[in-house]
Amino acid sequence: MAYSITEAKEQVIRAGVKLVETGLIARTWGNISARISDTQFVITPSGLAYETLTPDQIVTVNISDCTYEGDIKPSSEKGIHADAYKLRKEVNFIIHTHQEIASAIGIDGCSLQIGGEEDKRVLGSTIPCAAYGMPSTGKLKKAVATAIITNPESTAVLMKHHGTLCLGRDYENAFEIAQKLEHAAKEQYTQVCKKLPAMRRPQNYGSSERQGDSFMLTVDKTVKSYKVNGSHLNDPKEARLHAQIYSCTGVNYILHAVDDEVMAVSSSGRILKPLLDDLVQIAGINIRVVKDALNNPAIAASHLKNKNAVLLEHEGALCTGITESDAKAVQMVLRKGCLADLYASALHCKNQLGFFDSLIQRLVYVKKYSKQKK
Ligand SMILES: [Zn+2]
Repeated sequence: MAYSITEAKEQVIRAGVKLVETGLIARTWGNISARISDTQFVITPSGLAYETLTPDQIVTVNISDCTYEGDIKPSSEKGIHADAYKLRKEVNFIIHTHQEIASAIGIDGCSLQIGGEEDKRVLGSTIPCAAYGMPSTGKLKKAVATAIITNPESTAVLMKHHGTLCLGRDYENAFEIAQKLEHAAKEQYTQVCKKLPAMRRPQNYGSSERQGDSFMLTVDKTVKSYKVNGSHLNDPKEARLHAQIYSCTGVNYILHAVDDEVMAVSSSGRILKPLLDDLVQIAGINIRVVKDALNNPAIAASHLKNKNAVLLEHEGALCTGITESDAKAVQMVLRKGCLADLYASALHCKNQLGFFDSLIQRLVYVKKYSKQKK
């Protein structure tokens, strides 16, 4: 049954917080909606932080033509939600996620066959994968609608190189779908990718925070302050590397990511290709691998001029951001990108985003995000 408008707005806000908390999304790049009648739904606004949304910022949209009430712009993916409500009368709550494994396995464009009975009960026997379209485009909207129409039993859609759309009867059901979908995707992932090889412990490159002309570097629980500019002859190599990065980028935070997947890709020597939209937006296009970064700080820093991550051969990656939470968002999408890379590599799948599609997304993100920061 459709929600009352008050309840719908509350549930959408609650779902936004839950999506961020459970890591189903990084930043506010998802969208959530709830049906309030046969003709209308409410949806998250465009570009506002999920953690602080208020009911008056949730926008009421007409299903028939996507016109909306008030001055706040609804999510640019409102058309996808409108189509889903049009096509599925039983659907009352929709979440769009960037969940890790389901997004990673979507890169090959294949449907996901559901094995387990419990997963099948919630998801149906197949989860289709919609063809790629850049976010907010008619191409993406059409591809998702086609996947919904041609798979009437499926309660979710994978969105190639992007994420998922979970079509719930209500709030609880939508999250149950997301959770079961991740479970089913993990089964598929582990069938394709063998267990990661055990890797030696990486050297600690430290994490640091810049304040003005100096930065505090933490390595193995030892915290020390260094100058960004000036002579670093007597400083440890980690400090020189961090100083070099600060001196040629505008970031204020650097962290060393050593997640297993990041370690595995950094050891493969492969460039991390643009496989997922949020990787490209938040971290950058073609994340390169630097050999012996501690002795080549200028090379590592040069790769961070227009990107927010660089892979360190056999040692993980450095992630940068204006704030600590930015750098953590980079780490999150990098880890997912590496998961996708390992999956693609095991399948010998060469699918990746086009360079211009990637470039546009990265530029739009950087511009939008820096505006939001101000
Ligand atoms: Zn998205």
